[in-house]
Amino acid sequence: MNKPAFDVQATNAASRKAAPRKLSLKERYNLMTGDLGWETTYQPMDKVFPYDQFEGIKIHNWEGWQDPFRLTMDAYWKFQGEKERKLYAIIDAFQQNNAQFNVTDARYINALKLFFQGVSPLEYAASRGYALAGRNLRGVGARVACQMQAIDELRHAQTQIHTISHYNKFFSGLHENSYMFDRLWYLSVPKSFFEDAMSAGPFEFVTAISFGFEYVLTNLLFMPFMSGAAFNGDMATVTFGFSAQSDESRHMTLGLEIVKFLLEQDPDNLPIVQHWIDKWFWRGYRLLALVAMMMDYMLPKRVMSWSEAWEIYFEKNGGALFEDLARYGIRLPKYHEVASKEKGHLSHQTWATFYNYTHATAMHTWIPEPHEMDWLSAKYPDTFDKYYRPRFEYWDSLAKQDKRWFNPGLPMLCQTCQIPMLFTDVGSDPTRVVSRESVYRGTKYHFCSDGCKDVFDYEPEKYVQAYLPVNQIFQGNCGGSSLSDVVNWCHVEPADSGDFAQSEDRANWNRWTHADAGSEA
Ligand code: FE
Ligand code: ZN
Repeated sequence: MNKPAFDVQATNAASRKAAPRKLSLKERYNLMTGDLGWETTYQPMDKVFPYDQFEGIKIHNWEGWQDPFRLTMDAYWKFQGEKERKLYAIIDAFQQNNAQFNVTDARYINALKLFFQGVSPLEYAASRGYALAGRNLRGVGARVACQMQAIDELRHAQTQIHTISHYNKFFSGLHENSYMFDRLWYLSVPKSFFEDAMSAGPFEFVTAISFGFEYVLTNLLFMPFMSGAAFNGDMATVTFGFSAQSDESRHMTLGLEIVKFLLEQDPDNLPIVQHWIDKWFWRGYRLLALVAMMMDYMLPKRVMSWSEAWEIYFEKNGGALFEDLARYGIRLPKYHEVASKEKGHLSHQTWATFYNYTHATAMHTWIPEPHEMDWLSAKYPDTFDKYYRPRFEYWDSLAKQDKRWFNPGLPMLCQTCQIPMLFTDVGSDPTRVVSRESVYRGTKYHFCSDGCKDVFDYEPEKYVQAYLPVNQIFQGNCGGSSLSDVVNWCHVEPADSGDFAQSEDRANWNRWTHADAGSEA
């Protein structure tokens, strides 16, 4: 047998004399993945891998798991090391040139806050989740793929923390994202999404995150933030975005391969996988409500509207994907038509809710400028002027009389997605809030939609345990009974919240960029 290429490093005379034949990529990959696994003998395989069967997924042949990139570990470290060097060189230059002052205006930073508070911790959660899934899948190809993704995601969390730490020196709301992620009400939306996936079985986890999240929805999550950063002069964020993008394309490809692998292994897997696609589409879509408002309201220079993004990335591209999957028996996710109907309303309703509760967030909100309202009217001709503009104009008039509206109550949360019950019945009456209920063991639970109710009804024992921030506040578990008790407990400082007009961010920005020339001594 030829000596494998990776032994060539050994400095023995024999190998120096006759250089062995270079292995093909495929051979190297097989040696560096499939050959690394073994059948256990001291303990039965079922005891070593106790979690890859209870979901009902049947795998007959793990060899069918194909990594389309055939990436070996040595090549992986080399590529990633190169990317790190480039990224950190650019971040250095960014900091030395005080390039944080090149963003459009200080309102933009709030999009970055939302990303750092709500998305960066998901990168870390993904790292933990893939490490866990890799441990629990018995196929070696799948384990190597999970290992690489676990490392990728850890790198994403770290590069984001390193990049954004520079903004933390100048702006509010960026100082304690790990406490905020665990405690702030709106961040329980992304947190519970990922914890739901991590506490499922390993096949559901990879279907949820690799397929549902990375493949179907990533263009609607990651891309709007990165193109938003590019449009608004935030080159630091664009750079970590680019650095993560080549990992991202690997993750997306993997997501599709996983679903095809499961469907090719056994016909009994089809209904299980379809159920997961339905569930994770809906959970992912609800999470995107935060992105919708970011796109339409938080970017001083807008890339495209949420409605346009939904049409391109879900209705068109997603439609083609599901046409392709039809030969496996997979259909479009349940309630996709509801999501499409909501596209004219989603961002306005979400932003209005954040506007109501800005005193309990670690970011600022504001009423759109007149030219921004006109942009919204043009992008949403059927909905904005009719349902939302009057509301914003009314709030604007209150603010001008020094009576800026903050909602003093606490909203009811959906038991599944944990978003306040803010979504309306856009089909028949867009002014009426949708409210669904289920009774489980004598207790009533509330949902924002049929999609969320379905998820609960399928596994009630799981979702009755959900940590709902509002319910926890009422039970006295969040630092005390006053607003300041609760926000202190969340590590939110006074400068982090409130209307942008009164914020330190705005005052500082104007001072630094001389936009308020004359107002400062
Ligand atoms: Fe990532
Ligand atoms: Zn919900």
